[in-house]
Amino acid sequence: MAGNMGFIAELEQGDQELNSFIVLDRQGVALKDRAKKGKLAGLKVGVKSNISVDGLMVSAASKTLENHIGSYDAFVVKRIKGEGGSIAGMTNMDEFACGSSGETSFYGGTGNPSAPGRIPGGSSSGSAASVASGLVDVSIGSDTGGSIRNPASHCGVVGYKPTYGVVSRYGLLDLAMSLDQIGPLARNVKSCALLLDVIAGHDPRDETSIDLDKGFYNFSGNLDPKLKDKKLGYAREFDSLIQDKGIRRVIHKAIDRLSSVGAEIIELSLPNLKIALPTYYLNVYVEFFSATRKYDGRRYGHRIEEVCGEEVLRRILIGSYITQKEYSGRYYRKALQARSVLRRELMDALKEVDVLVGPAVPKLPHKIGTRIEDPMVMYAYDIFTVLANLAGIPAGVVPAGETDHIPTGLQVMGKPLQDQKVLNVMYGFEQY
Ligand code: GLN
Repeated sequence: MAGNMGFIAELEQGDQELNSFIVLDRQGVALKDRAKKGKLAGLKVGVKSNISVDGLMVSAASKTLENHIGSYDAFVVKRIKGEGGSIAGMTNMDEFACGSSGETSFYGGTGNPSAPGRIPGGSSSGSAASVASGLVDVSIGSDTGGSIRNPASHCGVVGYKPTYGVVSRYGLLDLAMSLDQIGPLARNVKSCALLLDVIAGHDPRDETSIDLDKGFYNFSGNLDPKLKDKKLGYAREFDSLIQDKGIRRVIHKAIDRLSSVGAEIIELSLPNLKIALPTYYLNVYVEFFSATRKYDGRRYGHRIEEVCGEEVLRRILIGSYITQKEYSGRYYRKALQARSVLRRELMDALKEVDVLVGPAVPKLPHKIGTRIEDPMVMYAYDIFTVLANLAGIPAGVVPAGETDHIPTGLQVMGKPLQDQKVLNVMYGFEQY
């Protein structure tokens, strides 16, 4: 336990300005039952504040849960401890994972170590920033509509959202359970795959968890960088939806790099991409509203509506409205239909290729302190990431370049359960 104090003190020092952690495990509570040996031995791990760790505050960065101490380990946390990982604490995030900038945390925003003065992205802001700054080796985040991939892109690290059902959600506070997945963030694809080896696996306590052959789970061992003759799809709609010229340049350069090493780039079309954001948000409003009904003040101390921030309240109010019988047909049923249309379109596109490649975010991270009044402007960050959640497919982001010293990531999306293929393309891209 004493050993922990050294590294935690150092972390505390390093995190003073960054604010990437809400809780540092000063008492070494999470180290008690850590295995001596294993795949993560010697590695420091950050855990997003919406994932349960026994004995640490699981606040989801909300005042609502300021008194909530985890009473058990999430599936992924148990696995991390079982493989010798040293959990350093609970990382900062947007309140209840609602956001794309890290600014809605009750505990204050997180900095971006790779682009000082800018937001780190969100909602897994602290998980990405703590990895980018080197405070920890790897982190765990959650991704409902891009919350791992968006901050990975803005902070210049690797982030990965697995196929829905590959990682257990047991112990994750829901944002929208039909979209949520837990996933790894790391400084390179190999470490990202290694953490995925550890956290992926069947869990009967999560009804959506998939049971797969053992061989499926050896992502790091099966990494293969070969890109020659790989068919990579690029949707022609991407270009006009990228708002920043610099990002367009980085993404095109990345595509050129991929093709120069023998990958075949296939242009295809996703004509319904423009309905992805409204489809995603309508689904999220309804599911989030239902997920928050348990925070009524009886069990967790505060009634959520009384203490939450503006974005969380907006989602609860709109969710409640849409959930009413007379409106659910008009909005929610339509959103579910739109979701199947998008899923079908994406699956059809993927049939032609090995994976899709493209941007992760349409614009550069804004300056900290810029007031964004219109929620649509914030939602716009998610245009390229929500697709993978709506369809349940695997998607990862790998650093691709910089614009004015601000990182931008390349996103790779694959067919359901082809997680290895997605990681391989990311790995191959990273080598060249
Ligand atoms: N920015 C998206 C939202 O606010 C994604 C959040 C997430 O993936 N947790 O819903």
